[in-house]
Amino acid sequence: MQARIHRGAAEVGGNCIEVEAGGERLVLDVGWPITAAEGEDVVLPGVAGLADGHDPSLLGVVISHPHPDHYGLLSKVDASVPVYIGESASRILCEAAFFSSFGISRRPSGYLRHRTTFDLGPFRVTSFLNDHSAFDAYSLLIEGDGRRLFYTGDMRAHGRKAGIFEELLRRPPENIDVLLMEGTHIREDSDGSERGPSERDVEDACVDTCKETEGMVLAMFSPQNIDRLVTVYRACLRSGRDLVIDLYTAAIAAATGRDTIPRAEWDRVRVYLPRSQRARVIREQAFDRTEAVKPHRIYPKELVARRGELVMLFRASMSREMEKIACLEGARVIWSMWPGYLRDPSGEQLRAWLERLGIPIVINHASGHAFISDLQRLVRALAPNRVVPIHSFAGDRFEEFFPRVERRRDGQWWEV
Ligand SMILES: [Zn+2]
Repeated sequence: MQARIHRGAAEVGGNCIEVEAGGERLVLDVGWPITAAEGEDVVLPGVAGLADGHDPSLLGVVISHPHPDHYGLLSKVDASVPVYIGESASRILCEAAFFSSFGISRRPSGYLRHRTTFDLGPFRVTSFLNDHSAFDAYSLLIEGDGRRLFYTGDMRAHGRKAGIFEELLRRPPENIDVLLMEGTHIREDSDGSERGPSERDVEDACVDTCKETEGMVLAMFSPQNIDRLVTVYRACLRSGRDLVIDLYTAAIAAATGRDTIPRAEWDRVRVYLPRSQRARVIREQAFDRTEAVKPHRIYPKELVARRGELVMLFRASMSREMEKIACLEGARVIWSMWPGYLRDPSGEQLRAWLERLGIPIVINHASGHAFISDLQRLVRALAPNRVVPIHSFAGDRFEEFFPRVERRRDGQWWEV
């Protein structure tokens, strides 16, 4: 079996890996590069049959998890190419496609399930559920020609599913030839000892913020970050506030298919329809969507009256609308995303608006990616013959932290 990384060997995101055995091929992830400029048209990696479906030796595309830097080019993959992804992940992307320009409404040929195996030509694919900021995320064990490649996808050990990472360490797949491992936290300036907050730390910090805030708490996080939705909901329960989500978040939460994820009909959950979502529902005549949340909706009058008892999922596009409703007196923003976004032009704009209204901003965030010390535990547990870096801006530094590292370049074929 041989493999080549098309993109991801020298950057975070945009992952695309091609594996070949007995003349047949499989693609792992077709990610959108996060380094691409806004509006840039990114072409598919040069995998035969991916764009036109004209090569029967291409058996399919396996998507590790529903983040754009792993599935974002899927819309350019020919409709005849089979796609495999988690079932909840697929439903989440389908809902996202209704509400935004992201997402995919394409019917997969099969679903990934934790520690479940399926055969595709000469390949045997086994999925391992990951703790990650994307829901229904997997690592993938690919077997072919008697060789074994373990691709981590994106993972961490400090989220709400930390137990699943520990289970992988306790019951690792054996005889791994190559561990293709993400290294988001391996950076130019890493010394290996860095650790950041865990999802539990974020929950505690959100409780503190809720208690310290007189008015409304505006929580800014990606609705697809289901771990964070649970974290913020739990902080609401602990501080006696109601969580106000929007229609998109309600749809994503329902798409998980899990009854442990906060739903519109739950106690202490309410649904607000921002103007943009209301317009979309009308444009698409999708009134079943509003009908489904009707008993749980909250309207401006209550937002004003009960502002000190609410945590609202907030996005910058709602700024003017909220200002007009006049529910922001004594408010505070919890920024629960990568702090780097605050330095983008849109982040600057948001900060200027908050400053004008005198709304303070606190950062309560946990990374979606494993810290180096956790990756070291992973490497010890899996004991692979070789470690190949991916999803890192500092792949050249892997050998300072892990044994038996072999650096590969984008586009280069190598034996597994
Ligand atoms: Zn990623």
